[in-house]
Amino acid sequence: DCNRRALDGVGKIAILERPLPASELLIAVARALRSRARQHRAKTYLQERLVADEKVRSLAATLETRVIARTIELSNAVAQHALAEERAHENEESYRLTIELGSQTPWTANTDLEVLTFGKNSMEPNALIDRDFRGRKWLDFIQPDMRDAIAALWQEAANERKPLDCELLMRMPDSEYRWHRARGNPRLDSDGRIMRWYGTIENIHEQKQADARFQQMQVDLIHASRITAMGTMASALAHELNQPLSAVANYVRGITRLLSVANPDIAAILAALGEADRSAVRAGEIVRRLREMVTRGTVERGPQDLLTMVEETCELALIDAPSLGIVVRFDLQPAIVDVDRIQIQQVLINLLRNAVEALQGTSARVITISSKIDCSTCYLRVTDNGPGLTPAVAARLFDPFNTTKTGGMGIGLSISRTIIESHGGTISGGPSPDGGTMFTISLPLSTSRSVVR
Ligand code: ADP
Repeated sequence: DCNRRALDGVGKIAILERPLPASELLIAVARALRSRARQHRAKTYLQERLVADEKVRSLAATLETRVIARTIELSNAVAQHALAEERAHENEESYRLTIELGSQTPWTANTDLEVLTFGKNSMEPNALIDRDFRGRKWLDFIQPDMRDAIAALWQEAANERKPLDCELLMRMPDSEYRWHRARGNPRLDSDGRIMRWYGTIENIHEQKQADARFQQMQVDLIHASRITAMGTMASALAHELNQPLSAVANYVRGITRLLSVANPDIAAILAALGEADRSAVRAGEIVRRLREMVTRGTVERGPQDLLTMVEETCELALIDAPSLGIVVRFDLQPAIVDVDRIQIQQVLINLLRNAVEALQGTSARVITISSKIDCSTCYLRVTDNGPGLTPAVAARLFDPFNTTKTGGMGIGLSISRTIIESHGGTISGGPSPDGGTMFTISLPLSTSRSVVR
């Protein structure tokens, strides 16, 4: 029984029935068991070896794919790097050429405004020269009269850590001063302190001179147009001037008569003298205004009283209104505007004369001059109840040479727009509610309370 139990552990075996001592059988069984165990171990080892081999193969395959991918990546990176380098080089080249050919010269300066670097500008025949500049102070090259103002601007930019942009006169190598535009940017360290100034400087002398010439031409054109406007009013003015002058002549004749009697009536003579004086003063006033309109060719902007300006203009522009049966209505709010008085009066003369001429064919003739104030702007309006604008004129109202008048030049409204826009205002024209025409101009209100003459 004991032997049989031992044999159960061996599994399938053929038992030869022959006499066998039990000890031998047990030895044989133990040997068989050991051999079976070895076989099991060998099998497990072989299986594990197979799995490991498989792993090694798959790792090798993955590694190979990775190496290929990485190689592609690297060669791409190398190509991109080369491309980037080429681009950087191109950029540097084009930056250098742009700087050399452009009108702006780059510079850097320290916090004491000593120039550290100064770029070249080959296009500029009379450019500021770097060797003159390096190590010197910016301010030394600025025209002495401007130095303090520019230094103050620079200080303000430095205090507020903001860019500087100003126009200044710089001393050139030929010792002449020329207009330049200087721009500078402070570069700050991590604590917000200024490390350096980076900027550009540009010669704008010719542009400045061209601007000044253009402005002068515009002033001359405005002046010429004013003389033309006065010319068109000449007959109306001459006619109306005749009135006070005839009155003076009549009073003088009356006074002569009063004096030729034995006991002259002194009170009557004094009254007549007073009337003659008033008429002469009125004639003198008209001539004075006319002369001012014709002679003044400069621009003098300053605070002006709107009511006085309108009143003076009407004395000239509407001089013949009563004799033409035109009723003039005023609806004005007091205002001080910041303008060139003569130029704004010129605009008003253009608008009022157009209104007077438009009313020639109508029966009930009314011109209204009104104003209102809104925030920092004064709106002044001239309205008439004439026939209104023709569609062709309305389409190009402020274009020059747009006229329906036989003797007209068609430049009054165009010049008026130039004047108003140079004052920072606007002008518009269109139909008025009662069928006539309405022009509105806007003018900047002055911050000053006192008026200049
Ligand atoms: P001009 O008076 O020399 O013609 P303007 O530029 O002052 O030049 O005016 C251009 C045109 O605009 C005038 O010819 C006229 O047809 C029209 N116009 C201007 N103001 C009025 C108005 N108040 N009513 C009708 N038409 C007007």
